[in-house]
Amino acid sequence: MSIQYDYHLHSSFSADSDTPAADQIARALSLGLRGICFTEHLDLDCPETDFSLDFPAYFDALRALQAQYRDRIDIRIGLEFGIQPQHAKIFRTTVAEWPLDFVIASQHFVNGQDPYYPSYFEGRDERACYAEYFEEILRNLQLYSDFDTLGHMDYIVRYGPNRNAEYSYRAYADYIDPILRHLIAHGTCLELNTGGLKYGLGEPNPATDVLRRYRELGGDLITVGSDAHAPEHLAYDFAAAEQILTDLGFRYYTIFRGRRPEQIRL
Ligand SMILES: [Zn+2]
Ligand SMILES: [Zn+2]
Repeated sequence: MSIQYDYHLHSSFSADSDTPAADQIARALSLGLRGICFTEHLDLDCPETDFSLDFPAYFDALRALQAQYRDRIDIRIGLEFGIQPQHAKIFRTTVAEWPLDFVIASQHFVNGQDPYYPSYFEGRDERACYAEYFEEILRNLQLYSDFDTLGHMDYIVRYGPNRNAEYSYRAYADYIDPILRHLIAHGTCLELNTGGLKYGLGEPNPATDVLRRYRELGGDLITVGSDAHAPEHLAYDFAAAEQILTDLGFRYYTIFRGRRPEQIRL
């Protein structure tokens, strides 16, 4: 395994994980990773779950772990912010206030609804739902700029009635291209999230053809993360991620410290 940094993972500081941060670190050490970046959820106004983040407790705990493991593994403190148009201002103050290493912007909710729940798709055309999701990302990209990577860009296909059976880059090119062009124009990374492989899609998020298109358009800034909420999913299928990236001609992936990018050779 040559991808040795997992830059998307969660612990019990996220509402949907009960894994102690120390357990993620123990797993990372057993896998021989060189570094991990915790990217805990902050999603505001969620109807079902309170996805707030206790920043003081998070920083206290992670700084203690950084000190404890200083000579063994590089531990970074990140954030996965759920982008919604009405939260752009609070996002800016949050990332200005906290000395984060890395910030992922992820589209989870669309118009206040979570595609994770089947009710989002009830009585609606799947294509229209997917298209709406991509349009919402583009809308948010006009409002959000101070982040490092766009998380799991086609995440919604994990949850649609037909999942990714009728989904492809080609079928949604009109929606996907503007997003990719925006990222490239702003020097923002695109994430390869191996959660899609874990969910049995046979593809990461975004799909290989989307990554191919990103490269075709001139994109070369990729971050890699497993989105592990439990230790057994840490660095999930990173061998496949590396194969996909090298097959597509990517030569580096990107990690961050103090919001500054560093290119790591594949
Ligand atoms: Zn996410
Ligand atoms: Zn995540």
